[in-house]
Amino acid sequence: MKIIRHTDPGYPAAASALNRRAEASDAVREVVSGVIKAVRERGDAAVLELVEKFDGAKLTPAQMRVPQAELDAAWDAADATLKSALQASQRNVAAFAQRSLRQEWSFKNEQGATVGEVYHPFERVGCYVPGGTAPLVSTSIMTVAIAAAAGVPEIVVCTPCGRDGTVNPGLLAALKLAGATEVYKIGGSQAIAALAFGTETIRPVTKIFGPGNSYVVEAKRQAFGVVSIDLLPGPSEVLILADKSGNPAFIAADILAQAEHGKDSMAGFLTDDAALLDAVVAQVAEQSATLSRQAQLTPVLEKGVFLMLVPSMEEGARLANDFAPEHLTLITTREQDILPLIRTAGAIFLGNYSPVAVGDFLAGPSHTLPTGGSGKSFPGITADMFQRRTSIIRLDRESCARSEPVVSAISAVEGLDAHARSVFIRGV
Ligand code: NAD
Repeated sequence: MKIIRHTDPGYPAAASALNRRAEASDAVREVVSGVIKAVRERGDAAVLELVEKFDGAKLTPAQMRVPQAELDAAWDAADATLKSALQASQRNVAAFAQRSLRQEWSFKNEQGATVGEVYHPFERVGCYVPGGTAPLVSTSIMTVAIAAAAGVPEIVVCTPCGRDGTVNPGLLAALKLAGATEVYKIGGSQAIAALAFGTETIRPVTKIFGPGNSYVVEAKRQAFGVVSIDLLPGPSEVLILADKSGNPAFIAADILAQAEHGKDSMAGFLTDDAALLDAVVAQVAEQSATLSRQAQLTPVLEKGVFLMLVPSMEEGARLANDFAPEHLTLITTREQDILPLIRTAGAIFLGNYSPVAVGDFLAGPSHTLPTGGSGKSFPGITADMFQRRTSIIRLDRESCARSEPVVSAISAVEGLDAHARSVFIRGV
């Protein structure tokens, strides 16, 4: 863990290093563009070679898709505790999604034309559900169930399989409940390429959603334009900003919950209280010794966790905005002053009793959130991202007449006399 205090000579450099931009490395960019080229040129054959190369599974084209009967059986066989947990999560996520769906609207403009917007669900979307290091059962709910709540008829899921060519049955059960209509056992950038460009087996989609590792995120970025995408949700991270009211045991537990994601994940802690900083350091050491995923925890604790003593909560909020964390936990007695200063977090968790894990699994908003600083330009997944909007314009003779002088004036400057005539000819 890196510990930096505002009194240290290295503090200004460490603070300015928090101001990051989301960018893939040249190496990842190159690998991904090679993968996309191969999938575009050789379809299924390339996908299957890449699945074997990266995931060690030998599949035939017919084995790429998980049969509906296997999805049904996975749900039937899931234990009652898992089923009821998944259902609880789905109910909250669907209720939240319903509230963020957009409704059609219209009004009359100054010339009396009726103008408005209508919304339709996308017809066919792709949802990527990660599975490289852990089968992310929760991501099924946090993407697919939102697509279903928005009324998307075709929800295509790609998720990696293990070396034996199978997908975790708990994950299949969650996908069945969430409403996936097609599930393919392929992961990584080859899955994104297949969803965007299509193969003999996978029909292309029009928008791709969901988180993944840096290869998955870069593939979404490179496919943008051919398809639209939700955001750039990469390796998970948390930033905790607390004053002396923070509970050190709870804060350490949230740092460790983040660190157990393993490679590439990050956790930061900012506080204006020196005693709290020391107490959190002690708690991280004490609690980490008792956790099971030491192989994932150790490298993150060495390289991906930082704790900073800042001169004030206002400075902490400024640094948090520079960092643009996926998850921001804010614990302060001055919430009314500090909360309005936070503008770039993917999701904000307030107070000592709002663990990020509840947001990840249950609370209601999608846990698919911007990372790596991309929160400065992207929000997390919301239900309205599954809707396509179209604007509607209707004029009658009077509003057409009232619009004519404006169109004529602008057409004259643009030199587009046919534009002016197309209004004038209507007898205005
Ligand atoms: P993943 O499914 O994203 O990636 C696994 C795939 O990556 C493999 O199938 C393989 O094809 C490909 N791959 C692995 N090594 C490769 C290489 N060297 N070259 C090319 N391709 C390679 O699963 P993961 O790796 O466990 O990553 C999931 C990520 O998603 C984690 O970092 C997690 O933190 C993140 N996540 C983010 C959010 C969010 O909202 N931001 C939510 C959930 C999970």
